[in-house]
Amino acid sequence: MTAEPATAPRIVTPYPGPEARRVIDRMRAVEGAGPRTGGTDDPLVVAEAHGATLVDPDGNEFVDLAASFAAANVGHSHPDVVEAIRDQAGRMSHVSSAFASEPRVAFEEALLDIAPPGLDRVLLGLSGADANDTALRLARSLTGRREVIAFSGGYFGRSSGVIGLNGKSAHRVRVARDADAHFVPFPYPYRWPLGRAEDASEQALGLVRHALEDPASGFGPVAAIVVEPVQGNGGIVIPPDGFLQGLRDLCDRHGIVLVFDEIQAGFGRTGRLWAGEHWGVVPDLMTVGKGIGGGMALSAVVGRRDLMRHWPPGTHTSTFMGNAVNLAAGRAAIDVMRRDRLWERSERIGAALRQSLADLADSPQVGEVRGLGLFIGIELVTDDASRAPDPARASAIRRAAFERGVLVGIAGHADNVLKICPPLTIDERLLDTAVGVLVESIKGAS
Ligand code: PLP
Repeated sequence: MTAEPATAPRIVTPYPGPEARRVIDRMRAVEGAGPRTGGTDDPLVVAEAHGATLVDPDGNEFVDLAASFAAANVGHSHPDVVEAIRDQAGRMSHVSSAFASEPRVAFEEALLDIAPPGLDRVLLGLSGADANDTALRLARSLTGRREVIAFSGGYFGRSSGVIGLNGKSAHRVRVARDADAHFVPFPYPYRWPLGRAEDASEQALGLVRHALEDPASGFGPVAAIVVEPVQGNGGIVIPPDGFLQGLRDLCDRHGIVLVFDEIQAGFGRTGRLWAGEHWGVVPDLMTVGKGIGGGMALSAVVGRRDLMRHWPPGTHTSTFMGNAVNLAAGRAAIDVMRRDRLWERSERIGAALRQSLADLADSPQVGEVRGLGLFIGIELVTDDASRAPDPARASAIRRAAFERGVLVGIAGHADNVLKICPPLTIDERLLDTAVGVLVESIKGAS
């Protein structure tokens, strides 16, 4: 196995080079328009991925500050994960979810070992959307109610079961909003639509309380409140203190299932194992995905035993849910996370990084630099006074950084937030170099 190159970022030929071009053309022929990467017109063709470095077929080396949709928490192709995959694939790669297996139980035990207190049962899945689907089905069958409260800027995936809960219309790709979903503004201090930022949490909770307690609010009986403890695709939005606890209290009072989606914000990303820990709030159900599979397709719902007991045996099945190779990779990723205490690394490196970026906020075009751990957003605006989102500037910066070999994500209601969420294992010098390129790209766009 090739180790992470120590030379990134390194551009040896303007992207796309001839080898990448060939792959892109073949892909377009079979997929149509297909994806795009880094603000360019083409996708990045990745030939190798190690740690925080992506190598294209022409030998360009990119630093991945986006961690492949914030999923490479333990880094790309972590040697322990690769070893676990090889070993498991040679023994038994797959049996259906109707079977038990050692890798399945070992992953589930490892996940429960790191789960918040009181969450002691697991249901497996293959993607984040899949886990959220399961959580929603469970909440509805448990309560006998259908309606759900979700929040502006929230993102839960693209399966038919949850796509209607996504706050952003572009993320619903013309699928109707879920008829049973109600949206409340997420307390987003920088952009709170109802007045002073300091009041955001109390006012958002007030709206939820009104929805639940006024018989004429227009809401029916609510099964679940579904929320990301820190919003990812919404723009790295951190709720004020008291908000999640307020939701917890309302759920307790009204017999509603509180679901935390920790698919992006969890697994060490924010400097805690789970983002909800920042406020000491434990949900009834927690969904996990992305990094938990160490690079393989794996997700889960973790929940309280009394809620998870509700379904009869055999209710929760899918062909690949018990895939042994995915589960072995997930177990290895959890072992790496625990052994290297990557959430502490995320906290330490993330705090230093935010400190080094703080000056950027002096620019009238940088509205806010915010984050927790290695989950950092830089919100771009046309000017300080209007705070009007500036997606064009975000896209230009992203492209300029890409051309110099650095990948960053884009998030936010109007795609105007640069998202820095590298692998939690990233070499600190590599991170410094890559962030240096990003900062120059930001300054160059001003
Ligand atoms: N939930 C959150 C918070 C996410 O960020 C995502 C993906 O970006 C999902 C759910 C959906 O996960 P997947 O793409 O694995 O279905």
